[in-house]
Amino acid sequence: MKLIIHGGFFSESSTNQETKKAKQDALASIVTLGHEYLKTHTALETVVYTVALLEDNELFNAGIGSQIQSDGKVRLSAALMDGKTEKFSGVINVEDVKNPIQIAENLLTYDDRVLSGDGAQRFARTNGFEYFNPITPQRQSEYEAKLNQKNNKGTVGCVALDADGNLAAATSTGGKGFEIPCRVSDSATVAGNYANQYAGISCTGVGEDIVSGALAAKIVTRVTDGFSLKEASDKSFAELKAIDGFAGVVGISTAGEVYHCDSHPYMVWASFDVNLQVFS
Ligand code: ASP
Repeated sequence: MKLIIHGGFFSESSTNQETKKAKQDALASIVTLGHEYLKTHTALETVVYTVALLEDNELFNAGIGSQIQSDGKVRLSAALMDGKTEKFSGVINVEDVKNPIQIAENLLTYDDRVLSGDGAQRFARTNGFEYFNPITPQRQSEYEAKLNQKNNKGTVGCVALDADGNLAAATSTGGKGFEIPCRVSDSATVAGNYANQYAGISCTGVGEDIVSGALAAKIVTRVTDGFSLKEASDKSFAELKAIDGFAGVVGISTAGEVYHCDSHPYMVWASFDVNLQVFS
């Protein structure tokens, strides 16, 4: 059983060590809870549980505390992939909900598994997800001060390998911040979140770069074709460098490798393999 999570990029320009420490502490406690949960649940159930905990923590740019788009609205995106069945589900730019990853979980049993905007919101309401305003006072004042979005990169994600050897990946984001309304992030695409029976990957970083590099699907495909997770990730990041891509990934392979990789060393992540590890 293995679990790895990320909390997106710690602000490159920020010198706020207090926030960094708070994020690390939050990741340590969430990965510990997630690992405990994994003992009695599947990888799929565990990544949803763990990402919902990250969405509920306002330090991270997902669920409550998400970035605000340029028209003043928060629109959330999240995706889930079951490595066992190779089914992918997600929501893109859904408004006024608390836990988009749980809506993605709900969609996994449907034929139509990725919904956007109003349709996603209608689906959520029909399935019991109540109105929730994820804007926090801090995000509102950042928005009002029109801070540059590059100061606040973030997204959350989780990959789990369960006792039966199955993998799952989940990713959730509030986007870049101050983006054109309804801009689509990588997080609810196979570039940002992918898993099969060989590996699972969750990404963070600049969505456009991650999509250009087809990052999560590419790394998983390379592992499927025989690369180790480290080789697959390092090769894919070398290719990303050619387009000056900004990204970070966390991943697990069924061979038991737990790996993270980033183009800029500011991603906050934590893993629970045999022992707890928290880094940024
Ligand atoms: N990948 C997310 C996006 O572009 C943001 C991030 O991970 O920081 O929307």
